[in-house]
Amino acid sequence: MTCASDETHIPADLGPIRESFLVFGAPTILAPEMEEVAATLQGGWLGTGPRVRHMEQAFREYKGAPFAAGLNSGTAALHLSLLVTDLKPGDEVITTAMTFCATVNAILHAGATPVLVDIEPHSLNIDPAQIEARLTERTRAILPVHFAGYPCRMDALLKLAHRHGLHVIEDCAHAIETEFQGQRAGTMGDFGCFSFYATKNVTTGEGGMVLSRTEEHDQRLRLLSLHGLSRDAWNRFGKGHYRHYQVLEAGFKYNMMDLQAAIGLHQLARVEENWLRRKAIWQCYQEAFADLPVTLPVEAPNDCRHAYHLYTIRLDQERCGWSRDEILERMNRQNIGVGVHYLSIPEHPFYRERFGWSPDDWPVARDTGRRTLSLPLTPGMHDTDVEQVVEALRRAMHK
Ligand SMILES: *Cc1c(COP(=O)(O)O)cnc(C)c1O
Repeated sequence: MTCASDETHIPADLGPIRESFLVFGAPTILAPEMEEVAATLQGGWLGTGPRVRHMEQAFREYKGAPFAAGLNSGTAALHLSLLVTDLKPGDEVITTAMTFCATVNAILHAGATPVLVDIEPHSLNIDPAQIEARLTERTRAILPVHFAGYPCRMDALLKLAHRHGLHVIEDCAHAIETEFQGQRAGTMGDFGCFSFYATKNVTTGEGGMVLSRTEEHDQRLRLLSLHGLSRDAWNRFGKGHYRHYQVLEAGFKYNMMDLQAAIGLHQLARVEENWLRRKAIWQCYQEAFADLPVTLPVEAPNDCRHAYHLYTIRLDQERCGWSRDEILERMNRQNIGVGVHYLSIPEHPFYRERFGWSPDDWPVARDTGRRTLSLPLTPGMHDTDVEQVVEALRRAMHK
């Protein structure tokens, strides 16, 4: 693919650069997923069963983790991890001001109070140096997010957690392939929460997985994921003779289906191949945009691994002359889908009203949310798609 661009013919009107709209975060679904879904439908067992167990095992092996439980979303993984942490009302959980709302909502639904910390400007991850000032005697846990797939400084976070007796729950929704100094994301904290939403690096349509470190936690997560039942349906109906179940807790309906695992198993098998393709696209963008008035995303340190989930650039508004929202519009007009990850949490009316938060109290997250945009970065993109994104951004930025 050609990463350079010929800038001699920039049209003033900015019409479509391609016929069809390039959907941001489009999943790459191939024949093996389709065949396995068809086989699952034909087999007649759609719910939680052998394919989910198989996907859990494959995920455990991929992550080198002792326990993995399949769920129906990453949000469910966060919610259950927080519940298993046994938070009491009024307990506080430290998290980042730069994340998807699900991270904060899960804390609320677990009955605890979210406490936001600002981010480091280069990694866009929670700034460990600012955590101490936000600790109180009610702080029980830290919930870092490996933003865009860039690993959080887990050494500093784990040290803080250890010193203050806090649980650590990793939000790994962007970070399936992420590593911090040889340790895999999701295996460093007490829990690792993964999302298989349609735009994520591995997808099941909707879905999630939670890693835990003890059998006790794993059992409780499984119990809570299926109404609090003592036995899942496969064990009740699947093996020839009927067995009664008992309700041991008021649980949730968070179980993963075999239909989802049918997709996920084949997605997971291609996770490294897809990572390489996204890395190549990421590097192409880095070269192509080096001379634009934007701040490019940073590579992870040498002893770490970036998951390349999002390619997020930050506009230098003064030099560029367009606002971020104008650039979003100018990309869409050229038939290129773009994303915003994310408006900082305190920008949303619910949190402002509930907690009296103002975006100005987390200025790095505020500015990141107002000035960045994410470009398409999926393994199914052809070289021509990548070249069109490059050309479209150069045209969109042209004054
Ligand atoms: C996608 C995402 C989630 C939620 O995952 P779902 O599977 O959509 O519930 C949580 N946190 C972050 C950072 C995410 O990007």
